[in-house]
Amino acid sequence: MEKCPRAWALKYGFNRKFSGTFNRHLINISDWSSPWRLMQRALRGVIIDRLDLHSKGKSWPEDDLAMRIRHRIIGALERQRTTVKLVELRLGDSSKLRVEIENEEINRLVEIACYRFHSAVKSEPIASILRGDIVEWFTCSRLEKTKLDRWDLHVAPDIVWRQGRNWHLLKLTVQGTAIPVKHRRLETNAMVLWGLFRTGMPAMANRFVVETLTWNRGRWRHWSEHASNRLVDDATMLIKSDMQAMTDLYLKMGDSCDLSQLPLAEQRRTCRNCGHIDTCPGGEDLQRGRLEQSALEMAKASSE
Ligand code: SF4
Repeated sequence: MEKCPRAWALKYGFNRKFSGTFNRHLINISDWSSPWRLMQRALRGVIIDRLDLHSKGKSWPEDDLAMRIRHRIIGALERQRTTVKLVELRLGDSSKLRVEIENEEINRLVEIACYRFHSAVKSEPIASILRGDIVEWFTCSRLEKTKLDRWDLHVAPDIVWRQGRNWHLLKLTVQGTAIPVKHRRLETNAMVLWGLFRTGMPAMANRFVVETLTWNRGRWRHWSEHASNRLVDDATMLIKSDMQAMTDLYLKMGDSCDLSQLPLAEQRRTCRNCGHIDTCPGGEDLQRGRLEQSALEMAKASSE
C-alpha cells in the first residue's frame, strides 16, 4: 500500500468486483515476479517442505535440494510465460515482463538458494525443531484466513511451536530487506490475531511470542518479542486503517473503475518489479504519470 496504492488495489481490491477468468488474469499479472523473487519464493518453499517431511517422520533426500529448487523456479517461470503471452495478446506488442533467462543465471539462482537453505537449517528455531528439541510444532499455510470484521486477513504465521506456557509464532522472510522495528512489531503482532481465533490456542495476547527469521546482509537474523494487548490493538488499528484506505480508493474509482484515480508508486524501482508495468502510466514514465495525475485531480477539483 505504501509503495504503490494502485498496484495494491489491483492486487487485493478486485476480488469482489470481478469473478472468473478476468479476475484470474488480474491476479496472475499482479503476482508477476522477477527471477530473483522467484528464487526467494522457491527457497521459502523448500524450507517449509523440509519441515513438513520432518513432521511426518520422512527422511529428507539431501541430494535433491538443487533439483527441487530448480523445478520450482522453472515451473514458476513457465506459469508466468502464459500470463505474459496474454498480456502481449492484449497489447499487440511485446511485453516488458518477458524475461529470457539463460541457464547459467538459473544455476546461479539455484546455488544462492541452496546456500541460504543450508544456512537456514542451522538457524534457530529450525535447527531446534530438526534436532527434536522443540517437540510441539507445526507449519501453517499463508492462505489461511482470519476474520476481522467483514474482512478475511492473511496473517497466519509460517511456523508455530509451544515452549512452556507460551506459543511462538514465526514469520519466515526471505526478501532480505531490513524492516524498521516499529513496522516489524505491528506486522508480527498481527499474527497474534490468527492465534487468538484458533481453537486450542490461548485467549490472551501475552501468551504469544512473535518472531521473525529474515535473510538480511548475508545471514539469517532471528528476532523475537513477547506480544502484548497494546501491540495487538495497534496492529489491528493499522490493519483497519489500511482496509479503510482500500475502501476509499475503491470508492474513488467509481462504478466505471476509473484506474486513473489510483495514486501511482513513489519510486521508479517499485515499477520495475510490477506486473502492470506495460499498461500503467507509471510503468512508462513514473514522473510524468504522477504529474499528469495531479493535473487531472486539480482540474477535477476545480470543476466540482
Ligand atoms: S507500474 Fe508502477 S505505478 Fe503502475 S501499478 Fe505498478 S508499481 Fe504502481
